[in-house]
Amino acid sequence: MIAVLCGGVGAARMLAGMQAVVDPGAIIGIVNTGDDTELHGLHISPDLDTITYTLSGVANPTTGWGLTGDTFRAMQALERFDAVTWFRLGDADLATHLYRTGRMREGATLSEVTAEISRAWGLRVRLLPMSDDPVRTRLRLEGAQEVAFQEYFVKLRHSVVVDSVRFAGAEVARPAPGVLAALEAAEVVVVAPSNPVVSIGPILAVPGVTSVLTARRDSVVAVSPIVAGAALRGPADRLLVELGGQASAPGVARFLSAWVGTLVIDEADADVAGEVEAAGVKCIVAPTVMRTPEMAAGLARTVLGTAGMDLGPSGGAPVAPGA
Ligand code: GDP
Ligand code: CA
Repeated sequence: MIAVLCGGVGAARMLAGMQAVVDPGAIIGIVNTGDDTELHGLHISPDLDTITYTLSGVANPTTGWGLTGDTFRAMQALERFDAVTWFRLGDADLATHLYRTGRMREGATLSEVTAEISRAWGLRVRLLPMSDDPVRTRLRLEGAQEVAFQEYFVKLRHSVVVDSVRFAGAEVARPAPGVLAALEAAEVVVVAPSNPVVSIGPILAVPGVTSVLTARRDSVVAVSPIVAGAALRGPADRLLVELGGQASAPGVARFLSAWVGTLVIDEADADVAGEVEAAGVKCIVAPTVMRTPEMAAGLARTVLGTAGMDLGPSGGAPVAPGA
């Protein structure tokens, strides 16, 4: 079994690549819920939904989130009111949030609803929220104002300087059922190319997670989300710098080195492989930018091969995603 620590878009593509090269039933995605928010009375879990839609082949390829071809009539109608409309929820996407919220009001846990939503979409990868308890990423901006994650990310388009980040509720959150067991039992733990600060950070803040990972550091492999000194999208590069690190593959290695044994870095960063190793992290250089499903499958083979995994008689030859 393979456990994968997941943020949103980068993780979704990585999981799609993985399920093309190994039995999807052997993959467990442990997903960040620090981005979760409540809007219009609905529980929104952006990273879980991005992964679900991507693995179902219905994610909007341009944005990476939401459903292809979705319409926004409900959002237009909401504009009449004093309601939050900067966080765009498509009409068909709303069905996911309505269902999730309704089930949680009936007493279902986020894990239970996640399993139901996964089943309804026919996912073969198993998705676990990192916790069923609320953990909410909050960022203190330069000037001391604190904002919720989506306000920073979507409303302010992350074009503001961050002084510090905290994960409200994490200290009392329990790992969701199956999370620690998966992290203990997995042949390899993969850290998807996700924002290390605000996508992987919240998962690590859930009590028990870091110590399990540290104890098995040699079989934890991460993919650098920083390529040639920059994030492919989003604020990962700036956040690393603002919080005292460096926006580079070695910077990522130093950020994760307490519990990551191997870092896969992009070919564009081959010249800094030595610096990654100097941080005490084994370094693998490979193409890491998942522009196509084939490239995602190739990266999955690299990552799992690093862990010495047997990719089966086909040698893990790429097959169509979702096949
Ligand atoms: P979210 O989608 O906003 O939740 O963000 P993620 O947690 O997925 O993080 C996005 C990060 O993943 C950014 O830092 C990107 O640079 C990185 N990323 C996204 N796609 C890829 C990819 O194909 N390859 C690599 N190496 N990094 C990626
Ligand atoms: Ca996210």
